[in-house]
Amino acid sequence: MKNIILTGDRPTGRLHIGHYVGSLKNRVEIQNEGNYDKMYVMIADAQALGDNHDNIQKIRDNIIEVAIDYISCGLDPNKVTIFIQSEISELTELTFYYMNLVTLSRLTRNPTVKEEIKLRKFETSLPVGFVCYPISQAADITAFGANIVPVGEDQLPMIEQTREIVRSFNSLYGETLVEPKEVLPKNEICRRLPGTDGNSKMGKSLGNCIYLSDDEKTVNQKVMSMYTDPDHIKVSDPGKLEGNVVFTYLDAFSNNEFIKKYAPEYNNLQEIKDHYTRGGLGDVKVKRLLASILNEILTPIREKRAYLEQHKSEVYDILFKGSDEARKAASKTLNNVKKAMGIDYRNSLA
Ligand code: ATP
Ligand code: MG
Repeated sequence: MKNIILTGDRPTGRLHIGHYVGSLKNRVEIQNEGNYDKMYVMIADAQALGDNHDNIQKIRDNIIEVAIDYISCGLDPNKVTIFIQSEISELTELTFYYMNLVTLSRLTRNPTVKEEIKLRKFETSLPVGFVCYPISQAADITAFGANIVPVGEDQLPMIEQTREIVRSFNSLYGETLVEPKEVLPKNEICRRLPGTDGNSKMGKSLGNCIYLSDDEKTVNQKVMSMYTDPDHIKVSDPGKLEGNVVFTYLDAFSNNEFIKKYAPEYNNLQEIKDHYTRGGLGDVKVKRLLASILNEILTPIREKRAYLEQHKSEVYDILFKGSDEARKAASKTLNNVKKAMGIDYRNSLA
């Protein structure tokens, strides 16, 4: 079987360090290992309209920002196809046919959707388009025959929903669609990086992010105001690690080399944790360590971004070229789907 990869992000804002450890890093690693036949990376603008239909400018503006973040992090347009979802009208058509295979109660049972409905206060005025977005994700994944989908943990219910749609389509109309499998980051903490406010998920729409494009000063400020242990008042007090976001981020981003460079009095993160829980290690010192590590990771990304910001037309060319290519692939799948369903009238009736 061919290895076809599809991933994507909503252009609801610039990408953050949760995207980096949760999915982007994985994508770049897979790309560089080269162990795949095709990799598609989608900017999900149509999906983002589901909760931003009254703020289209935000989505328009962020398409280029997300694309710049991708390339700055190492995605190579010569190796992967980066495209804009709404450019591929076949995706909307597939969504429409898949809608018949899913019940409304199944959609509202989706735990991620449930959480998002609450967050957006959609309980009494739920847009149909929003609640259907897992179906459109199934269209995105199956349109390209993707069998591998690198994602963060919040996307697991979407992949499950996609598999259900594939199974029911194939059993009704014959083997046509490919069942996808998620790829989660190996480090469990990276699967759902919490926000700087201690919220269970860093999210563009939650305002608790450290962005890949944040400058050094902003990163320092955000780290310094991060949630730690509210009972750790004096340096000599013993500190708690549980729910302490600074340590969660250190788990996600540090390694022994970073520790050697920025905290040479320790050999590894465990020694720092032990010192903190014992008492005698202040929050500011740990925060400075984290800020140094994040800034080191972000420096090369910022440098690439600075170049691309001056060459936006090159980035748009990449997106439109990618969209043309993606459209060809999706069009083949749509033809197969219509054939399987017996609604390819021009080919089968004439
Ligand atoms: P929004 O708040 O607008 O939904 P988001 O920050 O959740 O934005 P998405 O574009 O919805 O970002 O998600 C893109 C990808 O990034 C998905 O695979 C998702 O699982 C992953 N992801 C998003 N936030 C995190 C996070 N905090 N930790 C790990 N992965 C994440
Ligand atoms: Mg999201």
